[in-house]
Amino acid sequence: MKVTVLAGGVGGARFVRGLREECARRWPAGPDGTPAADGTPASSADVTVVVNTGDDLWLAGVRLMPDFDSLLYALAGVNDAERGWGRAGESERVAAELREWGVGWPWFTLGDLDLGTHLARTSWLREGLTPSQVGERLQGRWQLGVRLIPATDAEVDTHVRIDPSLPEAEGRDELHFQEWWTRHRAAIPALAFEQRNLGAARPAPRVEDAIADADVVLLAPSNPVVSIGTILAIPGMREALSATAAPVVGVSPVIGGQVVRGMADACLTAIGVETDAAAVARHYGARRAADVDPAATGLLDGWLVDEADAAAVPALEAGGIAAASVPLWMRDLDTSAALAGDALDLAERLRTAR
Ligand code: GDP
Ligand code: CA
Repeated sequence: MKVTVLAGGVGGARFVRGLREECARRWPAGPDGTPAADGTPASSADVTVVVNTGDDLWLAGVRLMPDFDSLLYALAGVNDAERGWGRAGESERVAAELREWGVGWPWFTLGDLDLGTHLARTSWLREGLTPSQVGERLQGRWQLGVRLIPATDAEVDTHVRIDPSLPEAEGRDELHFQEWWTRHRAAIPALAFEQRNLGAARPAPRVEDAIADADVVLLAPSNPVVSIGTILAIPGMREALSATAAPVVGVSPVIGGQVVRGMADACLTAIGVETDAAAVARHYGARRAADVDPAATGLLDGWLVDEADAAAVPALEAGGIAAASVPLWMRDLDTSAALAGDALDLAERLRTAR
């Protein structure tokens, strides 16, 4: 079984941990399968995660890839589960020094262990490795049980357009996404999200094959605009998704009209999409809805909404997207695994219906 997932950082990591667990239960590896670094049993399923690179940036002389690292740390079991990001047992001595030197952003703490990752990455980039080759080296340190690939090797950092006349804009008309998100907590109205260098970007090597060869493609319940949206904006990505024979099934990050954690509603509002599970599905669009809409150019064959949004299912189905309502809260590993199982079940229903 080959599963390919499109994912952002923290929401993506919760979902992928659940998926890895569910795969181990459904398709256990033989006796010589190596368990993951955190003890998760091995699976014969082949899971590839295509990771958002829109949040990446250069800061204090090093390259940060926040979503990639969130997945890396969470799957290796070295993440700070309580705080929700970064490494467990982290210290911040270097960050205090950087602050004294006036280097980096004082409101964006780089932990010491985390900086070790960024230094390793930057040193390999300087040696001439591509970001996806660096990603391979980074995940070689721990047995993850899944393969992580940055969506692209190009630097497509997301910038947020803002109104320069607002006092908090300090005269600027754009901010790096990280500054808008972390420093301003998404409180400055976003006029648009723009990715740099998109024209020159392509999916990283093996990404298109991972989509073409998949038995199932899943969209994690990640931010539809700045996580999944940035992956989809890479030229070639939509074409790969529309061409694959695998069903494409997404999971709503919105439950009962609210984003589950975080501030993704500020991103949806900026692109004119209602914070609503069905509205997000319509934004992605139906992939093969020839009977309903012969010109359908969307992405989704299937969509999972929460039980609180069960009333949305019939209209979604009528619009060409197979839908089901299931518990969408990922409270712990078991609920995350159950959710991944529901996504795999919906995909299986679509595969056998063809
Ligand atoms: P980020 O890169 O760290 O912002 O994380 P992602 O983009 O991967 O995911 C952020 C999204 O995950 C948020 O918009 C939330 O709505 C969604 N999310 C977080 N926790 C849950 C959950 O338990 N269930 C569901 N369905 N969505 C969640
Ligand atoms: Ca992110």
